[in-house]
Amino acid sequence: MQTRDLNVFYGSNQALHNIELDIPRHKVTALIGPSGCGKSTFLRCLNRMNDVIENCRITGSVLLDNQDVYNANLDVVLLRARVGMVFQKPNPFPKSIYDNVAYGPRIHGLANNRDELDEIVIESLQRARLFDEVKDRLKAPGTSLSGGQQQRLCIARAIAVEPEVVLMDEPCSALDPIATAGIEELITDLKEEYTIVMVTHSMQQAARISQKTAYFHMGHLVEVGETEQVFSNPIDQRTCDYVSGRIG
Ligand code: ADP
Repeated sequence: MQTRDLNVFYGSNQALHNIELDIPRHKVTALIGPSGCGKSTFLRCLNRMNDVIENCRITGSVLLDNQDVYNANLDVVLLRARVGMVFQKPNPFPKSIYDNVAYGPRIHGLANNRDELDEIVIESLQRARLFDEVKDRLKAPGTSLSGGQQQRLCIARAIAVEPEVVLMDEPCSALDPIATAGIEELITDLKEEYTIVMVTHSMQQAARISQKTAYFHMGHLVEVGETEQVFSNPIDQRTCDYVSGRIG
């Protein structure tokens, strides 16, 4: 994906200024920066989640395979299947584990019969490293799982529709360190098949699992590069202050 001259306004307040970012395929791109700098706003532009926010206005372009996702003819439901999202707080539907994962494939008609649907559900749960823990209770409510399991269920739900990109907005911030380590390992696995864009407030996490890092500051994309370079040898003084812990 790419953004070109992307500006976002909430009413008269401009939250993002001329963001130009290339998101590499099958890598983890981390979005970092102080609270309020526009990371979540940027992430939500990528699958038009800002559409539902009143007063939010966007100019410029967001390209997915060179097609502008803001094109008026684009099917937003399809876009959100191609560019899935995992939120900060695990938010399984009030449905069974099975139905949480089957939901997307059902509405997009990805299975012709029950066997095919079963296969998609099982494979998605396996890819999300959850299947072994839940295989005997697929009919239990998704909300009966632990926090880390719920987040893996939400990841299984997102990947069940074969997205190209998965957006993650601080996916570990509601989890304990062990569950966080599990999700980090999972993200590292998932990048083999999906492009991942992740907002994180943890610089350690960005350093551990991302290959590219974008540093936002007050609505501007100040620096972007290989994760190792951004953390060990930042070019901009503001990035340097942030990654060294002087601000933020
Ligand atoms: P971050 O994710 O880096 O903490 P956000 O993208 O949430 O930053 O916020 C960027 C700016 O946009 C902030 O000034 C915030 O107050 C503003 N903002 C975010 N969401 C909304 C909203 N729904 N309505 C109005 N202003 C918002």
